[in-house]
Amino acid sequence: SSSKHDKEKGVNVQVIVRCRPLNEDELRVHTPVVISCNEGRREVSALQNIANKQIDRTFLFDKVFGPASKQKDLYDLAVSPIVYEVLEGYNCTIFAYGQTGTGKTYTMEGGARKKNGEFPSDAGVIPRAVKQIFEILEAQNAEYNMKVTFLELYNEEITDLLAPEETPKFVDDKSKKPVALMEDGKGGVLVRGLEEEIVCTANEIYKILDKGSAKRRTAETLLNKQSSRSHSIFSITIHIKECTPEGEEMIKCGKLNLVDLAGSENISRSGAREGRAREAGEINKSLLTLGRVINTLVERSGHIPYRDSKLTRLLRDSLGGKTKTCIIATISPSIQSLEETLSTLDYAHRAK
Ligand code: ADP
Ligand code: MG
Repeated sequence: SSSKHDKEKGVNVQVIVRCRPLNEDELRVHTPVVISCNEGRREVSALQNIANKQIDRTFLFDKVFGPASKQKDLYDLAVSPIVYEVLEGYNCTIFAYGQTGTGKTYTMEGGARKKNGEFPSDAGVIPRAVKQIFEILEAQNAEYNMKVTFLELYNEEITDLLAPEETPKFVDDKSKKPVALMEDGKGGVLVRGLEEEIVCTANEIYKILDKGSAKRRTAETLLNKQSSRSHSIFSITIHIKECTPEGEEMIKCGKLNLVDLAGSENISRSGAREGRAREAGEINKSLLTLGRVINTLVERSGHIPYRDSKLTRLLRDSLGGKTKTCIIATISPSIQSLEETLSTLDYAHRAK
């Protein structure tokens, strides 16, 4: 009945919240905790008395993961069902959204793989999804092919993290063909010049991820970028050969996008300082537009502003229509972050 409801709604956006634990520094100075998570009731509450002002707000989400939650729990409960949808031919996107330092990258990537190749218990969404996809395909004895892309979006400019050069392609480097976003004439978008790697095993994908992440770090140092201002998009496209009961062959195609968004503090501080507002505007364009696109989809209220940012243009074929979207909003429990936490909870709640 829930899938019937989804069809009637026309969109399927799931919003979950994950609160990280206090870190060592915060514990040492006894930082007050102002967030409480009720996983059973799927509620997050912010509670604080400041002078005479009492903040007491409770938000309801599709799922809530408190500070003690494990990577595996979040994956099994929130992400694993989406991977099944991908293998059924859906385009699905998982976003990590939140203030810098709240666990977006921890949630998406998690701990590094061990030297002996063992799977770490703190592995995040991306390696777990890769592992599960191969396990399912192998169990089904499926005939398939798979390709991956990995890019970074910084200030509305795309860097291909899988480009074969020593350093990534820079738009201002005339010797290298820049990657460019183009309409494909079928309502989709094509990234001209973007490297697509064909992969056959989970290990190949892990190596590609490592290569891409290393490239991202190099680019950051070279260009003085701040990683908190960039979005990274890792996409897996899978074609599976199937036979209908009548013996006809058909190809099912699904796509999974795993997106580590720029720090959400870039939104709330935009325009705050004169002069820097324009630059901030560019940085925020994708985050703000993503919020608007998702609101419009959820409320089914007319024109969807996909074209207003590169992020939403890139993900257009995976947002709206026959797609599934999951937003993982990450927050800190500390009193110092309360203002940012409330704006994250507001953004995430609007997407519901
Ligand atoms: P972000 O990508 O949002 O800036 P990070 O993922 O880098 O944040 O997390 C900041 C720090 O907090 C890292 O040291 C990370 O390991 C730790 N951390 C984040 N979330 C958790 C969590 N749920 N459990 C344990 N440690 C966490
Ligand atoms: Mg990060």
